[in-house]
Amino acid sequence: MEEETSNVSIRPEIDKLLLLQEKDTKILELTEDLEEQPRKIAALRESFLGQSQDLNAAKEESKAKQAEMKKIELEVESTKQEILKHSNQLFQVKTNEEYKALEKEIALEKSQSGEKEDVILEDMMVIDGIKEKIKTLEEAHAKDEAVLKEQEVVIEERIKNLKAQIEQLQGERHSIEVDVRDDILSLYNRVLNIRPESPVVPVRDHICMGCHMELIHQSSSDVKRCTEMVFCENCSRILYEPVE
Ligand SMILES: [Zn+2]
Repeated sequence: MEEETSNVSIRPEIDKLLLLQEKDTKILELTEDLEEQPRKIAALRESFLGQSQDLNAAKEESKAKQAEMKKIELEVESTKQEILKHSNQLFQVKTNEEYKALEKEIALEKSQSGEKEDVILEDMMVIDGIKEKIKTLEEAHAKDEAVLKEQEVVIEERIKNLKAQIEQLQGERHSIEVDVRDDILSLYNRVLNIRPESPVVPVRDHICMGCHMELIHQSSSDVKRCTEMVFCENCSRILYEPVE
């Protein structure tokens, strides 16, 4: 390695890497933002779907209650037929006992019919409550559907915008990149892969500002000399001496 060391400062290359890093950091940030967008849409759609399910459940509940009410109405109708039949029989019975038994039967049927009519009234009230709930849910649903569509447009717009910004930054990045020495660029790209958020970091008081570990003396003085690329022995980031 000794024979490769020269006295030529690579500071201009480091400065280009810092410019490159500036673009890469922005690209990373915007890319993460871009990746977040479909998740946002999915979350909105999911919440909307949850509301649709609530609405469908309320409609099902209303249908079931109405069916139950219909069944009881038919039962009441048939009990009334029975009452009518037994009331007519009252005139045909021969004995007092038969008469009393029939009267008792009619009284029981009337009481049963009355109870069922009460249940029907209760059901009607429950159905009214459900209908109110459905109306409220439908209104909220329509409103949320409008909001969802609006948000989808906003998010689509944001996606388009982010893509355009990233594309522009990549263009800017490229025009910096073509100017960087090949070997240095390939080292930078390698470090960028493992430390995408900050591949190039300053050294302050012998400390790597990327991982905050103290550098060995040799690295520290190599950074100061700035005639070759120096990497943090702990985090592998490219190190440079900040210009005060
Ligand atoms: Zn480090």
